[in-house]
Amino acid sequence: MTIFSKELIHKFSLTPTPFYYYDLELLDQTLQSLKQESDRYGFIVHYALKANANPAILKKINALGFGADCVSGNEVARAAETGFPNEKIVFAGVGKSDEEILTGLKNNIHSFNCESLQELEIIDQLAGEMNKIAPIALRLNPNVSANTHKYITTGLEENKFGINQWELDSLVEKLKSLKNIKLIGLHFHIGSQITDLSAFKSLCIKINEFQQWFNKQHIAIPNLNVGGGLGIDYHEPDMHSIVDFASFFKLFHDYLDVYPGQKIHFELGRALVAQCGSLISKVLYIKNGVNTNFMILDAGMTELIRPALYQAYHKIENISNTNGAPQRYDVVGPICESSDCFGKALVMPTTLRGDLIAIRSTGAYGEVMSSNYNLREKVEAYYSDRF
Ligand SMILES: *Cc1c(COP(=O)(O)O)cnc(C)c1O
Repeated sequence: MTIFSKELIHKFSLTPTPFYYYDLELLDQTLQSLKQESDRYGFIVHYALKANANPAILKKINALGFGADCVSGNEVARAAETGFPNEKIVFAGVGKSDEEILTGLKNNIHSFNCESLQELEIIDQLAGEMNKIAPIALRLNPNVSANTHKYITTGLEENKFGINQWELDSLVEKLKSLKNIKLIGLHFHIGSQITDLSAFKSLCIKINEFQQWFNKQHIAIPNLNVGGGLGIDYHEPDMHSIVDFASFFKLFHDYLDVYPGQKIHFELGRALVAQCGSLISKVLYIKNGVNTNFMILDAGMTELIRPALYQAYHKIENISNTNGAPQRYDVVGPICESSDCFGKALVMPTTLRGDLIAIRSTGAYGEVMSSNYNLREKVEAYYSDRF
């Protein structure tokens, strides 16, 4: 069984592989659901461009009125070019270069999410040289565990991200002397692919404590940005093709203390775009191993690095041949690295050279992380509305 129609699979078979295929209808439905559930509480959502920055996808997200969350100067520029309004662009990142900060200043973005004392001083200096006042939010490290892979955990004190609690006193002192920055809010982001919503509850409780502290110092916090990280179902992409946004936003509504007039911002990447993408590949060879068979694809870690980088699971389907007798396969790519493996000991229908394989849920952190290692070609992308 596969969700891809016979006609679509036929078109896939006529297209040089590997390539990414994006189902824009599913993207539309996901965005509609996101809009409905976030509007319910007046929450503002910024899309994290780093998950997938393809213009066709950005246009759809911008058209529905969402903002942009950027982590590089080029992402700020891409968001502005796509038409995201300046006042809906936020810029995070632990190592913003002077040039990137200037890009943000020139574009009059909504806020720089600042991650260190020194960064505040540099933004203040650069804004001063332009006679501007830079709006900044402090990215605080809430020391909350996201219960996700250690490479995508960002909210623990041992991580490089954010400003730690014990630095707050000196930081607030410092802010008084910096005349070209204006504190407009607090920012948090605890990690990615978070499926245990209790991590977000812990975050809310932590944010409430931080807010009380700022309250005591008589420092107003007009904006709270709670970051992103909402996870998706990589195991059952067809059963759960759209994330349960309702429960996610309700949790923040229930547990976050919101002060009068305060605006609540979210930064979601994966949850918007992961399920609409598939990496389509062809089987080059079947090779018998000692305890397994190797299914060698023409796609590798150069097209999709998540399995090699974070031991990530992606559902892998043989879409040309769904009825063969079950066999055990290690599904691997052609790259000269043993980590170039998409799945081990998977039971799949007997597969032959030339069969088409779909690696599912690859719309986020797939194509954007592709590389030309081994001098591989840039991977192509196709969209359901003009395929
Ligand atoms: C990556 C990132 C996000 C988005 O994370 P997802 O897990 O894709 O939702 C949001 N905010 C910041 C600061 C990020 O670095």
